[in-house]
Amino acid sequence: MKVNLDGIHTNLRFSAAHMVIGHKSCGKIHGHSYIVDVEVEGERSGQFGFVIDFKVLKDITRKICKTLDHRVLIPIESPDLEVTYEDDKTIEFTLLGDCEYKLPKSDVVLLPIPSTTAESLSIYITEKIVEALPDTSTLDYIEVQVNEGIGQGASYHKTL
Ligand SMILES: [Zn+2]
Repeated sequence: MKVNLDGIHTNLRFSAAHMVIGHKSCGKIHGHSYIVDVEVEGERSGQFGFVIDFKVLKDITRKICKTLDHRVLIPIESPDLEVTYEDDKTIEFTLLGDCEYKLPKSDVVLLPIPSTTAESLSIYITEKIVEALPDTSTLDYIEVQVNEGIGQGASYHKTL
């Protein structure tokens, strides 16, 4: 049996800035209001016969969204990004050896992913949800869709 969370109606959202390094138009820093949909399939279990408690899944996903909200998302594993200076307060980096950024650390999230496309963000958020789930033994898979605004998104399906 499947359960799902519709990010628009359950308020699983974040607003963030990013850049798709090397892309003609999306390579420039810009922002999206992201919406996260989550689907889980598994066996019903426990006292209430839930696949998973909606509240648990919502709380976990919302906390992850909050870590990304109102931040600049930096794909620290991109081969086209080089950190040139970093201390407790500031990070400086270049993109493609050319475009230089200097940002306060408090405004950025350094993500261990090669890009901040919806595709990469869906993998990142899926892995963070799975890490936080209390028990996955009765679950078959999780699928997380990250939407860039309404009407377009990328989803990642992970077998559990
Ligand atoms: Zn974008």
